[in-house]
Amino acid sequence: MPIYEYRCGRCSRVFEALIRKPSDESEEVCPHCGGHEKERLFSVFGMAGVEKAGGGSCGSCSSHNCGSCSCG
Ligand SMILES: [Zn+2]
Repeated sequence: MPIYEYRCGRCSRVFEALIRKPSDESEEVCPHCGGHEKERLFSVFGMAGVEKAGGGSCGSCSSHNCGSCSCG
C-alpha cells in the first residue's frame, strides 16, 4: 500500500495519504482545511530518518507536518 505525499492547493500544507485503490486518491482531502486541490509530491517512503542536507525544500521532508522541520 503506497503512501503518497501531497501539497494542498488551498493551504499549501503537506500531508500524507495511504492509497489502497486508485479511487482513494481523488477522494482524499486535505486534513487541515478539507480542500480537494492538491498536487502529489515525490514519495520518500522508506527514507525516514535520512539526515537532511539543510536548506532544502519540504519536498523531501517526511515529516507529517512542516511545523517540525526547518523549511518554515
Ligand atoms: Zn489544506
